[in-house]
Formats: sequence, C-alpha cells, structure tokens
Amino acid sequence: MALYTTDLLILGSGPAGYTAGIYAVRAGVKVMIVSGNQEGGQLTMTSAIENFPGFEEISGYELMDRMKQQAVKLGVQFMNDHIVEVDFAHRPFICSSENGHSYKAKAVIVATGSSAKWLNIASEKKYLGYGVSACATCDGFFYRNRTVVVVGGGNSAVAEALYLATLAEKVILIHRRHQLRADKILQDRVFENRKITVVWDCVVEEILGQDEPRKVTGIRIRNVETDKTEELNADGVFIAVGHQPNTDIFKGNLVLDSKGYIVTHDNSSITDVEGVFAAGDVKDPKYKQAVISAGSGAVAAMDAVEYLDSCA
Ligand code: NAP
Repeated sequence: MALYTTDLLILGSGPAGYTAGIYAVRAGVKVMIVSGNQEGGQLTMTSAIENFPGFEEISGYELMDRMKQQAVKLGVQFMNDHIVEVDFAHRPFICSSENGHSYKAKAVIVATGSSAKWLNIASEKKYLGYGVSACATCDGFFYRNRTVVVVGGGNSAVAEALYLATLAEKVILIHRRHQLRADKILQDRVFENRKITVVWDCVVEEILGQDEPRKVTGIRIRNVETDKTEELNADGVFIAVGHQPNTDIFKGNLVLDSKGYIVTHDNSSITDVEGVFAAGDVKDPKYKQAVISAGSGAVAAMDAVEYLDSCA
C-alpha cells in the first residue's frame, strides 16, 4: 500500500485520458494516469478504426498503445491500477485504489469512459463466458465457421457483425426496429455481406443453452410487431446494445445527469467541484467518438492547467 502524490491525476486510459495527459505534461504539470480495469479503454476491443484522422485504418489496440507510448515518452507517469473510491470533499483530492494505494492530487480529470450495456435477462448472465459476449474482437476467434448472433443496431453492433463475418459461417443481426442506427457506410457493408442476415423488429427474449457442458445453443426472439416468437440456432451471442457511463464511484461526489453522465459547464470540462474536470464518454451522452474524446481530453487538460496555475 503506497501513497502517490501528483499535481494532476487522470482517471482512465482511453483517448480522453491519454490526450489530457499529453497536453498537461507538455504544459509543465506533473501528471499521473491511473489506467482503470481495462488499459486503453473500450477502443482496445475494436478491430478496425477508419475514422480517426491520420490513420486510414488502425486497430483499436494499436491506436491506444501509440497514445500511451506518446504520453509516457513525454513524461506522464502511468499506473496500472483501478480507483474504487474518491474523496473530492477535501483538498488535496484523494483517490483510493483496489490495490490499496492512495493517490493524492491538486486536480483530477475524470476520463473513466463507459461500459457495454446488457439485455438484463437471466440467461445472459448464465451463459456469459459460455457463448455470450460483448466483445467480438476478444471472443470472435472461438466461432470460426460457426453461427453467431449479434444484438443491436448501432455502430458497435454493425462493426461486431462485420468483424464476426470474417470468421463465422453465418452472422444473424437482431435489431428491435426496422432501421439501423449505424453509420451509412457500415450499414451498406452489412447489406452487401452475404454471411450477414438482418432480422428486423425483434427482441431477444431468452438465450437458449445446455448445462453439461454449459454452452449456448440458440436464442428465442419475439417480433415486436406481430408478437410471434421464434427459436434460432446459434453457437454464440454478442450483445451490442449501447453503453453506460462509468460513474458509480462519483455518485455523491459529482453532479450526474439522469442517465449517470457527469455534468460539465459552459462547453468546458468543469464539473461542480472546483479542481475536478471530466472528459470523454463519461460526460458525453451523445457523440462518443474516439476523436471527440481525444478533443475533450485536450479541453480538460487546458482547464486543469489553468486551474493549477490559478492555485500557484
Ligand atoms: P448506440 O448507438 O446507442 O446503439 C445501441 C443499439 O442497441 C441501438 O440500435 C438500440 O436500438 C439497440 N438497443 C438498445 N437497447 C436495447 C435492448 N434492450 N434490446 C435490443 N436492442 C437495444 O450504441 P453503440 O452502438 O454501442 O455505440 C455507442 C457510441 O459509440 C455511438 O455514438 C457510436 O456512434 C459510437 N461508436 C462508433 C463507432 C465507429 O465510429 N466506427 C463504432 C462503435 C461505436 P434503437 O436503435 O432502437 O435505439
């Protein structure tokens, strides 16, 4: 158990966290990034990124690794740890980690991102890790030449379906409406892909499986227009129904909106606690793009540096 002291503590290692680190350290501030449970954040689970300017195509893992190397090379101190409790009521701020370490800082940037949502049906929990997943790049390999289902109609679901189609024999995309929410370019690729079938207007009622050995064998879907149910065979089910902000530990410390996103003021990263700033998906209920998170990280660093200068 150690006590670490820094000027600026950044919670989270996605594009917002690393960009904030790069900007702040270049402004002469002592910066420490605490990675969170998933170093590099959600993008590390994305196979191909085509819309981060400067890279025609890059894997999420490589993009995040490059950001980390750049931040560390410039002097950011990187800690592989996960914060479980914060005290923003006293100064300096104290953040405590699951490893029992304490991090003391004059300013904090919260860039803890968001996590995949689930369908919240009992069978989903039962088969999690036994055929149910929220990460095609992590688990898609196990479904080579098999049949998989992807649930959702946004960019995540469509990107997962396209990636899985490179491995699986058949991909069934289940969407609750009759129109995808994903970017047009990705939708076109789905419609052109002979391995992908889209099932419209349907919700997943149950994930079906067996116990010994525990594995998924299919799903039961219900058509929301006709109320008719149907069982489909499948070896894997990938859930991609959106994301929720990682703000549990900030409840009672920061003002959150009705969906749990951190509230910031006047187009800035400024929260209701002076000296605490927020950047990236954790404060963005709408756009949630890597490039926007990166920009938001830069804004937070500039706000934090200005605050630290005003305290000096
Ligand atoms: P999203 O855009 O919010 O889409 C979630 C999808 O899941 C929607 O189609 C929604 O249906 C469906 N859904 C939600 N709850 C459901 C439920 N209980 N049962 C069945 N379906 C449900 O979320 P996302 O795809 O995770 O994307 C999040 C953000 O990341 C977006 O801003 C997206 O643009 C971004 N992103 C970008 C890229 C990229 O640029 N390549 C890749 C991945 C993600 P409805 O359409 O009916 O609401």
